[in-house]
Amino acid sequence: MSNGNKMVSTLVQVHHSGTWNIEIYGKPAKASPIFHEIPKCLDTSSCHTLFNLIETSTHCIGNNGYDKLCRSKSPNNLTMFFNKHNEIEAYEQDLVTYRTVRHMKCEILITQNSSSRCSVCSIYRSYLSTQNSINNKNVLTDATNQKYTRNDLLSRQVLEGKTRKLQKENEQLKRKVQNLQDRVRHVIEEKGETLDEDLSTSFSSVMNDKNNEVMSCFPADSAQRIFWQQQKQAVEVKSKTQRRWHPMMIKWCIALHAKSSSAYRFLRSTNMLILPGESTLRDYTKFSTTTDGVNYDIIRRIKEEMKEEPEFKRNVSLLFDEVK
Ligand SMILES: [Zn+2]
Repeated sequence: MSNGNKMVSTLVQVHHSGTWNIEIYGKPAKASPIFHEIPKCLDTSSCHTLFNLIETSTHCIGNNGYDKLCRSKSPNNLTMFFNKHNEIEAYEQDLVTYRTVRHMKCEILITQNSSSRCSVCSIYRSYLSTQNSINNKNVLTDATNQKYTRNDLLSRQVLEGKTRKLQKENEQLKRKVQNLQDRVRHVIEEKGETLDEDLSTSFSSVMNDKNNEVMSCFPADSAQRIFWQQQKQAVEVKSKTQRRWHPMMIKWCIALHAKSSSAYRFLRSTNMLILPGESTLRDYTKFSTTTDGVNYDIIRRIKEEMKEEPEFKRNVSLLFDEVK
């Protein structure tokens, strides 16, 4: 039977001369402290004691559960752990049903009733745990460094790290949202006012009551007057689709949207003002598709607008320039 055969868990050899040897999973175990009393050359009594000891002992399980750490050191083969003098300190062992990291000085056999691993492997376990957490942190750092790398180009390990990080962030955000919701609920309970039907109708009636006053304040066709009228009309129509916008309102909204689309969206979302939707603005701004060369839609539009302008404004030079 091959000594390296990992299927043989315990191999005991007793020679004619009385010398003996024992291997556990292909590793010599004669030096194990439990055999200290057994002489180099066996007689009937010590042979009996030897087998009795083997029968009543158990294998040190080594340090299992460090597969990830081992694969980070050696992705395809069993790995070795070196000390600071570059000597092998521990090695990974494949025991068919599981893989374990065994210290070079592992006692291999231990008495039953004691813990599942020998004292040497037990001490080494804390070193492995430290290495494991350093390794996990590195994977997380790698994932952070490779934030903008496409997922299909990342290694499995980095992807796992990235997933863990995202899960963590997700949990934190959920907690944050929950906290904010609680705070808002609290503020509403403390300072909130219940709006009833009467109060709601009184808002629109204030607008109607003050309509004449506002109209008299601002001259006809003034921006303020158009704005007031547009807001009033927008409130009165039942459906959004029935809203009709004055060209000046549209121009003003396009200009505002061009300055800052997010500010425009914010203004709309607050309902402080009723403003046309972005798709309505798009209908006006995207009246023509942009292509290279002369855009005849624009020329036609300029011609149309210029018709109404006085003579001196219509005497212009058209300048073609490079536009990005
Ligand atoms: Zn051990």
